[in-house]
Amino acid sequence: MEIRERGTKTTEYKASAAQRLKWAGAAIFLVGLVVAAGWGVYTLPTPIVDGMLEADIRKQSEMWKRRVLMHMEDAEITFQTGIMGAHDQEFLELMPEASDVYRFKLFHADGTVFWSTRPSDIGSVNTNPYFATNVTNGEIYYKHEKKPASEIDDLVLHSAQLDTSMPHHVAEIYTPVMRNSSFLGAIEFYTDITELREIFIMRVRVLLGVLYGVALTAMVIVSLVIYRSNRRQLNSLRTRSQYERDLMDEQLRLAREVRLLGELNEWLQSSRSLDELFDMVARFMTHILPDAEGSVYVYSNSRDVLDGSASWNGGAHKDHIHPDGCWGLRRGRTYEYGATEVDFVCEHAEPHDGRAYFCFPILAHGETVGLMHLRAQHGCEEQFAQNKKLAQMCAEQISMAIANVRMRDQLHDQSVRDPLTGLFNRRHMTDQLRKLISRSQASGTPVSLIAVDVDHFKKFNDNHGHDAGDMVLRAVGSVLQQSCDGDEIACRMGGEEFTIILPDNSPSEVQDRAEKLRKAVEDIAVRYGEKTLPRITISLGIAHYPTHGTMPQDLMRAADDALYDAKARGRNQVRVAALPHQAENPNEPTEHHPIAAE
Ligand code: GH3
Ligand code: MG
Ligand code: MG
Repeated sequence: MEIRERGTKTTEYKASAAQRLKWAGAAIFLVGLVVAAGWGVYTLPTPIVDGMLEADIRKQSEMWKRRVLMHMEDAEITFQTGIMGAHDQEFLELMPEASDVYRFKLFHADGTVFWSTRPSDIGSVNTNPYFATNVTNGEIYYKHEKKPASEIDDLVLHSAQLDTSMPHHVAEIYTPVMRNSSFLGAIEFYTDITELREIFIMRVRVLLGVLYGVALTAMVIVSLVIYRSNRRQLNSLRTRSQYERDLMDEQLRLAREVRLLGELNEWLQSSRSLDELFDMVARFMTHILPDAEGSVYVYSNSRDVLDGSASWNGGAHKDHIHPDGCWGLRRGRTYEYGATEVDFVCEHAEPHDGRAYFCFPILAHGETVGLMHLRAQHGCEEQFAQNKKLAQMCAEQISMAIANVRMRDQLHDQSVRDPLTGLFNRRHMTDQLRKLISRSQASGTPVSLIAVDVDHFKKFNDNHGHDAGDMVLRAVGSVLQQSCDGDEIACRMGGEEFTIILPDNSPSEVQDRAEKLRKAVEDIAVRYGEKTLPRITISLGIAHYPTHGTMPQDLMRAADDALYDAKARGRNQVRVAALPHQAENPNEPTEHHPIAAE
């Protein structure tokens, strides 16, 4: 996960550097475009205006030519001969004043000037190639030149405002004079286009500037729109990729939780006791929910309190808590402190510092058997609240595991206990005796056996009924059970016969205990309905390991023999088994040690 994150960061860094480079390139390109367009706006009008002026002057030259020719008395003759009347002269001289032409010349077909507004030009010959090739062929020839102000005739007449120090733009145009497709001559007009040209250039510049401004604004708007839509798309892509990343993280988290829950389940199912189970719970919970400290409580046998059984991750459990002090147990469902505006703190969560916590009742086969309490660690409250479902699943796993262990315990109990008295049965007694004998073999500590049988019980049953007999058997069982301590085991062998195993007691202590038992049974008073049942007595036979046998069967047989001896001697008494060599020789009187009832 960490490696993936680091990789992502590097990729993001590279991506942002490339992005920045792209943006810088685009910005430089845009600035270049804007500057180039500005330069275009400044320079482009000149050729455009020159082109427009040329077209206009070409048209005007035709008009000027017509005016000249129309006012001549006989233009054809004049161009052929160069001779003109006073009327023609007068008109030609006035022509510059009545038009934009400041000078003009009339040419013969061979290029000789035969009249000009500037008399010094008369007689000169135009030998330029364009005259011979273009003009003589009927083509208009146009020329645009810069000339000093001194070159312009009658300048003041044309414009008083023009700066005479600046060069002037002059359009020179040769218009051919044709008659029936033959070239008669030509007229050259000079017109000063400086002012007109400047005005036109300025206007075109303004027009182009406006167009440029509109285009620039439109471009900026379009760029902004594209940028914003791109940004929106980028943001939505980012959101989507973030969402997919979150989804992937969530799936990984879920997969991990499922795996851990599976492992928890497997381990819990294999636990053999509740202690082992709580040990596993503590270790797994630390791993599954590291942000939560926790504890587990289990109902005591009396069911009036719950005993603290385990805690983990810094959590602490109390020895006992009252079910009424927990809102989860009281309401029979998960209690989440910190989820609502008004909350009450459970007694067992005191002292409480305001941190969020959960109380999950633990159920086994529909019955509440305990409580799992989880509290957020400092600074982990948000993560803690998000893990509620996982915690709930853990509580369910733990519930199932406790139910399993309990059921196994019950089954085991049923297989080793007698249902009437609750004492261990013969099978368990035999197993335990075997184990204790093995232990004694190793350690040399003693083991003793007391066989117990109720006297004349058949008659008791016959007189008072089987139910009354059962009550008496339960009372005898209870007395035997209460007399046992530590490793001592009381068993019901069947019917009205019992056995007690006493490890670590000397023979005299065993005899004392047997005698005390005899007396305690003698004192039992069982009420049956309205009446009190008559008292019963027991006979007891004692055998010691290894004195009376080294195998369980031998010891049991010896204790039984002593018991029969007690019966034979009048019942309600304790007898110790005879030594083995005495038992093998039946003719020899038995040396059972009597402890006669007083
Ligand atoms: P003794 O003093 O020689 O031991 O005489 P006894 O009558 O006690 O001996 P016996 O073995 O002849 O009788 C045992 C009687 O115990 C027979 C049966 O009625 C009774 N008994 C055996 N199991 C139960 C039981 O589970 N409940 C009841 N109520 N009686 C039982
Ligand atoms: Mg019996
Ligand atoms: Mg009996």
